[in-house]
Amino acid sequence: MSLIDGDRLWTRLMALAEIGAAPAGGVNRQALSEGEILAWRRVIGWAEEAGLAPATDAAGNLFLTLAGRDRSAAPLLTGSHLDSQPTGGKFDGAVGVMAALEAAISLAARGEAPARDVVVVAWMNEEGSRFAPGMMGSEAFASVRSIDVIRDARDADGVSVGDALDRLHAAFPELPRKPLGFPASAYLELHIEQGPLLEVETKVIGVVTGIQGKKTFQVVVEGAEGHAGTLAQAERRDAIASFARMASALHAEIGAVDADIKFTIGRVTIEPNAPSVVPSRVTFSIDLRHPDNAVLDAAGARVVALCQEHAPPCSVTVKPLVDAPSNEFDAGLSQRIAQAAREQGFPAMSILSAAGHDARHLAKVCPSAMIFIPCRDGVSHVEHEWAEPAHVAAGAAVLAQVMRELAFA
Ligand SMILES: [Zn+2]
Repeated sequence: MSLIDGDRLWTRLMALAEIGAAPAGGVNRQALSEGEILAWRRVIGWAEEAGLAPATDAAGNLFLTLAGRDRSAAPLLTGSHLDSQPTGGKFDGAVGVMAALEAAISLAARGEAPARDVVVVAWMNEEGSRFAPGMMGSEAFASVRSIDVIRDARDADGVSVGDALDRLHAAFPELPRKPLGFPASAYLELHIEQGPLLEVETKVIGVVTGIQGKKTFQVVVEGAEGHAGTLAQAERRDAIASFARMASALHAEIGAVDADIKFTIGRVTIEPNAPSVVPSRVTFSIDLRHPDNAVLDAAGARVVALCQEHAPPCSVTVKPLVDAPSNEFDAGLSQRIAQAAREQGFPAMSILSAAGHDARHLAKVCPSAMIFIPCRDGVSHVEHEWAEPAHVAAGAAVLAQVMRELAFA
């Protein structure tokens, strides 16, 4: 017998997707929007019906607590996010919140209180589409970014996060406030893979080993404009010639670091970009990813060195933009996930997350782990994003087993 009610979970997930429903079957539910307020009401309704108590915090995270016998013990946290991309799907984020809620409701129905509180969480603004950058709720919780800095961010209409947060809180005046970043004993997050590996391998459960680290750079090569017919080759400071040497050296060396490296020059802008003018400036982007931080750092340092080495007679500036190290999830929790999948008969595999998630920040403050389920064709952040009902139920059942082991021990 399953540890959760898969039909109830699916019905509620589809009901949640009606809020912010988009024309092509997806969801547009922006952070701190009217849609998110409605989603909170619906989710809080389901939670209260099962005896879970809702609360929020200064960062607009939603917490739904199943009270344990020892209220002073650090709670088990589990969830994801309820906001979406403007043309997002029904599953990214929502499936993690709803699976956690379903698991908590099923655990509550056992009639015996857990040893410690079980807290279902919906983090504020994971997507970063209305207010950039994303993961605001989990970053505030894990003290990665201060709440004051977060409140100052504005959307395209000039509305600040602070004002939108105040509006959200005003819509729920009865909700108690938890302190920002209370201690947690562990964090579990279920999410769709957002990639094709589980589907290709015909696995149902991904035991996520960690989140791949990423660095991005903007490189500007400065040369000098000149007449293509009259300027002697020896006199030229041709920005494309320097760029070509850099790109070739970067691909040859960084691109060949090892089998796990991902090196991309994805955008190049040339000035003045005219057929008979020696180019004066090339601006290009570098996206560099690797699961091992030492390798990522070393590769990042070589990016800078190689650009400088191949710039002359032009000059170059390499500006780091994103610097997000890889994180590894807790090995003990990952083992429990793998074992729960095995015991329940779901084919599972270890998988590295290529995309970022709130769990990245939670891993800094408590043992954390993630469960992936497949999504059709590996696609996400699109309206036709899809996960099979059986896979949603499988992920929630594995989550429920690990929650039971951690909270009822
Ligand atoms: Zn997500």
